[in-house]
Amino acid sequence: MPSERKYRSQMIEFGKMLHQRGYVAAMDGNLSVRLDEDRILATPTAMCKSMMRVSDLVIVDLEGRRIQGRRNVSSEIGMHLLIYKLRPDIRGIVHAHPPTATGFAAAGMALNKPLVCEVVIGLGSIPLAGYGTPGTPELAAALEPLVPQYDAILMANHGVVAYADDLHQAYMKLETVEHFAQIALVTHLLGKQQPLAGTNLQKLMDIRGKYEGSRSVAPLPLDEAVQPVLQASASSAKAASSASANSGSRRSLAGHREASLRRS
Ligand SMILES: [Zn+2]
Repeated sequence: MPSERKYRSQMIEFGKMLHQRGYVAAMDGNLSVRLDEDRILATPTAMCKSMMRVSDLVIVDLEGRRIQGRRNVSSEIGMHLLIYKLRPDIRGIVHAHPPTATGFAAAGMALNKPLVCEVVIGLGSIPLAGYGTPGTPELAAALEPLVPQYDAILMANHGVVAYADDLHQAYMKLETVEHFAQIALVTHLLGKQQPLAGTNLQKLMDIRGKYEGSRSVAPLPLDEAVQPVLQASASSAKAASSASANSGSRRSLAGHREASLRRS
């Protein structure tokens, strides 16, 4: 396992990348690493993520109380602590406001259609959590039902949080979400989407468990979007997609297949 020193330099490195790639502006965003059972290394509040030094980082306990460091910890530490509490497998978390994915979040749209094969394998789908004021228990309450089964979440009118068994993978997931959001946006601009379905989707699910970096148990994309169609077969696709935005429950491939048949 890497040393605390290594974790600190990783936080500086990925903080710089967040800023350089435009995933955060000014002092937005935050990162953290679970050092051990009782300690979380996190970024400080009110600092640009590209200008941090290792000595600016803060260590807190699982209640968010500062153990080490001279700066105050990120005001969004509560979101990180919630994820560490609900997911013992998680060791790294990245939160940012990448513009395209955050645009979807501000439009009230989840990224839950299987438009790109490798996103299906790596993340499944990216749900949308309802709005909660940053730094308050409201936000934690909105995220709580989604954290156990998704590895990346859009937060309505706010941004994205992604997490993994190390900080590097968490950053990669955030980058994948933003890239996928750009692709989804292009399909919206083209006015046409052709989601993967049927046996092609099944094959992706079959290889998903073997794919390095994919430990997500997120439901298939479209499962959520399709379910309301099953419930009210005459309703419009628009109603279905809006109804799906906050749904986080896991559904079967059989259900998905049935829905695909009905839709086709
Ligand atoms: Zn934020």
